[in-house]
Amino acid sequence: MEKKEQYLKMIVEDINPALANALRRAMIAEVPCLAIEDVWIVENNSHLYDEIIAHRLGLIPLKTDLESYVLPSQCGCEGEGCPQCQVAFTLNKEAIEGPITVYSGDLQSEDPEVSPASPNIPIVELVKGQKLVLEAYAKLGIGDEHAKWQPVTTCAYKYLPIIRIDYERCEKCEACVSACPRQILSFKNDQVQIQNAMNCNFCMACEEACIAEPEKAIQVSWHSTKFIFTVESSGALPAETIVLKACEILKGKLKTFQELLKNF
Ligand SMILES: [Zn+2]
Repeated sequence: MEKKEQYLKMIVEDINPALANALRRAMIAEVPCLAIEDVWIVENNSHLYDEIIAHRLGLIPLKTDLESYVLPSQCGCEGEGCPQCQVAFTLNKEAIEGPITVYSGDLQSEDPEVSPASPNIPIVELVKGQKLVLEAYAKLGIGDEHAKWQPVTTCAYKYLPIIRIDYERCEKCEACVSACPRQILSFKNDQVQIQNAMNCNFCMACEEACIAEPEKAIQVSWHSTKFIFTVESSGALPAETIVLKACEILKGKLKTFQELLKNF
């Protein structure tokens, strides 16, 4: 329905809620991305403690190249840290003349392909005479372990709505039009029109407002096998990559399950 680098809206058909939720959970908790895990503070006389700065660094989304890095648990170095499983960053800022703000863009990466998704995330403010010098190491991880490794900010689905209007019963009172908080309905050419049914969030305000008795002239329902997914990336990975990777992970899990059953 809509596709941008960091945003995807799509309809997935012929699945059930269990599978839709499995896909959602895989995108949130199983698709890996890079985040800062270890920080060595060389100098910090800012007003923030080392731990708070390290925490803030960990939450900065980093552009991730999944082809070039592996999870530390799957690396030949057994998690010790090597160029295959970690990226080093350095930061060296000092407020010499007056107050300055240290931003995510001040992090210098050893790999030009890996950088903060946005250079404008404030880390700390330094006043004259304060200095922040540190080394940081980013590693791949999954959201299941820590939210900083979640590649998505929004990842949700809802049923595909169906809005039906029985024009024979409709009294043209327009109550449903004004009741809808999402302006889905309008009154044109002497009848109620549905403009953007996709925006419906099933609040049922239109049904409640309808004065037709005993059966309402407007009825909201949904397709039980069709879902609208909204996926918004943190900037770590393109939204499309997150969806495809999640499918791959789900398939892998099913394959493992199949093999385990066979060998039981
Ligand atoms: Zn390694």
